[in-house]
Amino acid sequence: MKESDIKNYTFRIILNNYCNYKCNLCFNEWQGHDARHNNISLDSLKSALEPYINEIDYLKLTGGEPLLNPNIKTITDYLTSLSLVSITTNGSLLKKWYNKLSDKILYTISIYGYDSNSFISYTNKTADDFVNFQNQLSVVKMEPERFSANVLIQPNNNWNFEKFLNFCIEKGFKKIRFITLISNNNNLVFSDNRKEVESFFETNSKYAVPNINPTVRKLSIKNVSLELVTQYSEFSSEVNSNYGFYWVNIDGSIRKAPQFDNILF
Ligand code: SF4
Repeated sequence: MKESDIKNYTFRIILNNYCNYKCNLCFNEWQGHDARHNNISLDSLKSALEPYINEIDYLKLTGGEPLLNPNIKTITDYLTSLSLVSITTNGSLLKKWYNKLSDKILYTISIYGYDSNSFISYTNKTADDFVNFQNQLSVVKMEPERFSANVLIQPNNNWNFEKFLNFCIEKGFKKIRFITLISNNNNLVFSDNRKEVESFFETNSKYAVPNINPTVRKLSIKNVSLELVTQYSEFSSEVNSNYGFYWVNIDGSIRKAPQFDNILF
């Protein structure tokens, strides 16, 4: 696919660079560990998007923890007027914002643990925080079509594919994505733990859903959509052969992710 063929773009927008979690591996490019506590301003966001206003396909909001941005309501009211919007969040503030923000917004909830111990060991939070997290997830069953679960395939010994899968199903998620990062030298990160997921996908290949993106494998089992997704750690963008991908930094500057058409997974 040529650059000139791309008509619509996904924008990944960094709303802020701080977080109330301190995960062992922050897959928001360590933004969650930044000590500077910056927020993108609505003005710089508008200026950044202005040149592309007719080419936006999808806006993915992230951080840090984006629901900590003090202007989250104003910003999302503006962005939902432009395009489909999803917020990737650790879920800890979901109930606070779920009824206040536009009902057009989709949420991707990062799942870091399937029980208290696994949650604590990855996020460095407490048992009470895990109780809070589970409580926040009660909204998922109310409108499951607006929520998806992102499970990062982790490096540590707490990784247990079946337990993560059962946890997400029990909480009512109908779309569950298992995410592998890929390093800049094209090696899969934590590939041993990924093998467990790959083997599940191979065993259940009769439920496979065809898709054109070579970096995503999809299954549909009993009304639950399961995906195995490969991401570039540098851009955290799904390598998508149909759409271009832009990264909007916290200062409103933009960089274009390169095309990876020559790489298949
Ligand atoms: S919750 Fe997300 S942004 Fe926060 S530290 Fe963990 S991975 Fe990073």
